[in-house]
Amino acid sequence: MIQIDLMELADIGNPKLIAEEIIKGNKDLILPIPIEEIAKVVGIKEINFLSNIEFEGALLANAGKTQGIIACNAKANDERKRFTIAHELGHFLIPTHSHNITCISSSISYENRKTFINKEQEANCFASNILVPQYFLKEELKKIKYFDLEDVCNLRKKFFVSYEAFIRALVNCCNEPMAFIFAENQIIKFFVCSEDFPYLSIRPKNKLPIKLEFTQNHEIQETIERDCDFWLSHRISSPLYEQNMIINKKYSITMLTLD
Ligand SMILES: [Zn+2]
Repeated sequence: MIQIDLMELADIGNPKLIAEEIIKGNKDLILPIPIEEIAKVVGIKEINFLSNIEFEGALLANAGKTQGIIACNAKANDERKRFTIAHELGHFLIPTHSHNITCISSSISYENRKTFINKEQEANCFASNILVPQYFLKEELKKIKYFDLEDVCNLRKKFFVSYEAFIRALVNCCNEPMAFIFAENQIIKFFVCSEDFPYLSIRPKNKLPIKLEFTQNHEIQETIERDCDFWLSHRISSPLYEQNMIINKKYSITMLTLD
């Protein structure tokens, strides 16, 4: 049974703190976070999955935001639908946000900064922190001795979010220096690094500095030690470890860790 004190929530303006307040009262939840149930408990009467819409998600609520309806793009994959619902729920729960909002796909993505440029980022921050709460992630990480991409896969499924959302949350939460490089057809799309990770020499839109063999649809390769010249702009004294994962014969995620 989900317990949420709506009076308590109404006094919190910060998106991350709103998510944390909800989690604080529900530490016995079983993953993945039941986002639709949480939405219903706080006043969302319906979540409608619509096919022919120009936007990714929308919130339609009464002026006092005590009741509302969420619309979500039916064509999105399940992880994306969960993120969109959480994002719209963010608009519903953050006191300064409008009661009627439509949101396009490009404005809905993982976010965890402390200051925000716009309301979309605030809703994204709420979504990120409610779907991968630090409390639950830390509990899961405690169970793992040697963390690798196999664990990333398992935990991403457990939290039921995209690789990007999970990995960004992981890098935010974890104390180990690590970097993840996302590529498509061996071209770097973007990378995510922990604050203390050495400076990478790679750039988005460039080719990966390593050659990946795409033999299977989904494959997690062995961790290897790699000369840091491949990835880093400066030499470091500790060894650099690299592990690669291939997804759908097209995408790859590279995890870099230090000793
Ligand atoms: Zn939005």
